Amino acid sequence: MKIKALNGFKDILPDEILLWRRVEENARSVLERFHFAEVRVPVLEKTELFSRSIGADTDIVEKEMYTFVDKQITMRPEATASLMRSYIEHSMHGLRPVQRLFTIGPMFRHERPQKGRQRQFHQLDVEVLGSASPRLDAELMSLGDALFAELGVTTSLEINSLGCPACRPGYRRVLLAFIEERLDNLCEDCQRRSVRNPLRVLDCKKQGCRRQVEEAPSVIDYLCEGCSVHFTEVRRNLELLEVEYKVNKFMVRGLDYYVRTTFEFITDQLGAQSAVCAGGRYDGLIEMLGGPKIPGIGFAMGIERLVLLLKQHEEQSDKIAEIDLFIAGLGEEAADYSFKLMHELRGQGLRVAMDLDGKSLKSQMKQADRAGARYALIVGSQELADNQAPLRDMESGEQTELNLDSIASFLTDAVE
Ligand code: ATP
Ligand code: MG
Repeated sequence: MKIKALNGFKDILPDEILLWRRVEENARSVLERFHFAEVRVPVLEKTELFSRSIGADTDIVEKEMYTFVDKQITMRPEATASLMRSYIEHSMHGLRPVQRLFTIGPMFRHERPQKGRQRQFHQLDVEVLGSASPRLDAELMSLGDALFAELGVTTSLEINSLGCPACRPGYRRVLLAFIEERLDNLCEDCQRRSVRNPLRVLDCKKQGCRRQVEEAPSVIDYLCEGCSVHFTEVRRNLELLEVEYKVNKFMVRGLDYYVRTTFEFITDQLGAQSAVCAGGRYDGLIEMLGGPKIPGIGFAMGIERLVLLLKQHEEQSDKIAEIDLFIAGLGEEAADYSFKLMHELRGQGLRVAMDLDGKSLKSQMKQADRAGARYALIVGSQELADNQAPLRDMESGEQTELNLDSIASFLTDAVE
């Protein structure tokens, strides 16, 4: 019986990996310009870290976590909580007043797999701890914008403010009253959760619930003075940087820790999976996890969705050479020579491959082609005796005789 990968868990195969690398390399280079430092955090954490931070009534904690119940540990469904844990554990606030951190890696959520929705997926997660400035909110959104722009991907930015512990309870009451009038028309999840957390209803993806809340009161109209000023300043700074955005009064995000600014970069090209990047401010989170009273803001970008967009956006770029040289050796003596030559050339930084199974010349040339070789060197006993062998340019098919002693310098010049 064949063993297959779990549903919602995917292999990323070599023909896709170039896109992944491009996304990751682009991210690292843009993030460096924005003065961020990389952190790698573990995949497993205590369950409590997530239930306390993400919120017990959220989809993630209620039904999507991969938890080892007997050990009370969970495979991270997102990275913010882990980064906060790490920040607190290593007293990073003492090292710099403002920490700008990012991490890239797999996350795990037990949800229904669809295009752009998997059970193991990857995120680029970006967090800034230590500043409450609305400028920072705008800067982070401009960073998201830059990450997409450099890859040639178009998305649109939607922003909202969720208020803070001072003004949200007032809004909550108004929203709850609105929802209670329509309770019978909502899905089971919403009916159950609405009393404890009415904001969750605004985030429900079911069409029926969406229709019900179209006319719901918006949190924007209930912001306190502080939150209102903050939101105005975020918008002003976005305009200053000429980052285009739209206010979406109903965006609440599926995590409880957000306060004030939330935002999403969305696309209409991935069907129901419209969010490619999402984030917000979480000024109380570090304190809630036992750390100092320090504000924070961050976002997470879904790498699978970004790769899907890249695939749709453009023709695959011209196939670049995967190796510099394929050595086709004929006969035992030439095979020994080729094996040693391959070893030496690799030691000089060249990308080299050969056939190890004594295949025919025809088969070896086919392998050279499949390997994406820039050149192929053909060596038999006669070539060894003459110390000279034909080198074929695999693109043009042109063949030149080359002194075997000059192969390294020739290739080094040619592939520079
Ligand atoms: P969605 O509404 O699509 O479920 P979310 O609000 O749960 O997203 P976040 O927790 O904010 O998503 O994660 C940030 C980003 O990570 C999302 O915008 C998306 O691009 C990506 N993402 C989230 N869940 C998945 C998943 N199951 N598979 C692939 N990508 C995902
Ligand atoms: Mg989700």
